Amino acid sequence: MIDLRSDTVTQPTEAMRDAMAIAPVGDDVWGDDPSVAAFEAEVADRAGFAAAAFFPSGTQSNLTAMLVHCARGDEVIAGQRSHIYRDEGGGAAVLGGIQPQPLAQQADGRMALEDIAEAIKGDDIHHARTRLIALENTFQGRVLPQDYVQEVTGLAAERGLACHLDGARLFNASVATGKSLAELCAGFDSVSLCFSKGLGAPVGSLLVGGERFIAAARRWRKTLGGGMRQSGLLAAACRYALHHHVERLADDHRHARQLAEWLGGIEGIGVAGQATNMVFLDVPAPHCAALEGFLAERGILIAVRPRTRLVTHLGVSESDVRRVATEIAAYFASLAQEPTTE
Ligand SMILES: *Cc1c(COP(=O)(O)O)cnc(C)c1O
Repeated sequence: MIDLRSDTVTQPTEAMRDAMAIAPVGDDVWGDDPSVAAFEAEVADRAGFAAAAFFPSGTQSNLTAMLVHCARGDEVIAGQRSHIYRDEGGGAAVLGGIQPQPLAQQADGRMALEDIAEAIKGDDIHHARTRLIALENTFQGRVLPQDYVQEVTGLAAERGLACHLDGARLFNASVATGKSLAELCAGFDSVSLCFSKGLGAPVGSLLVGGERFIAAARRWRKTLGGGMRQSGLLAAACRYALHHHVERLADDHRHARQLAEWLGGIEGIGVAGQATNMVFLDVPAPHCAALEGFLAERGILIAVRPRTRLVTHLGVSESDVRRVATEIAAYFASLAQEPTTE
């Protein structure tokens, strides 16, 4: 199967499974797991923060960050199409009494600086207390411009707000720009990083921040049911990915570029955009279900929508993306040959 639905579908490699098998472990709720501790310390250092905590998912890591930064009746400013606002079950509101203030985003994920400034509420008993601004990098594969990140974190500092980065795919941004993780994390109070996306680990996200922030995050993580026991098995997979699967993200980016180029030559569809490991494709609505079925019969998994997202990852080779382009071309070519009844 060639699976382009997401970069979450990766299988752990043999070498990653070997690293998991030999990892020393302990009860991490008691602070006893050396593999978790080593992984947390290494990533915290690389990101330029004092501490880190290992989480079972990026959703729980982002939620924990919001619960630490905000109390009941506080507010977080986030993009209308951001994962935190749209794709995490409203967790901050459900579990923290935290009010989201979603703002419109441009195609590249930026909220207008004036919109952010205007949404920050003054000290008035009518309002929720604005406490936090959350950004996302990459956003739908696109890297946030670094000068924009500096403007937003600068504004937050000026207005006394905290700033959180949902960096689920921040390693993709780092490889695409040549900027270090620390450069991309600068100015934020906390950052969430996923290892179960293109990096290929089966499970795991890391929340990085200051000592006191992470101490509070560990408390919330336990409350949320995210305190894990011999989780060094999982941390070992993530650490293996950190050491062996970061530079190779450049291959995924190259495959996505090639795929976009090949798809661009097919009549009947349009490439709406490509960035890092994602390609967005416009497919005429009447063809979505049929194309999805046609590809599935040929061992290709794509969730075909009017705006289809294709994601490359370590389970997808150059010949795989070539085959995908060839099969999509074959589908549209077969239509052209069908006799019309008119
Ligand atoms: C995947 C993802 C997350 C976290 O998702 P989990 O599936 O809970 O690990 C957070 N933000 C973005 C932008 C993501 O793509």
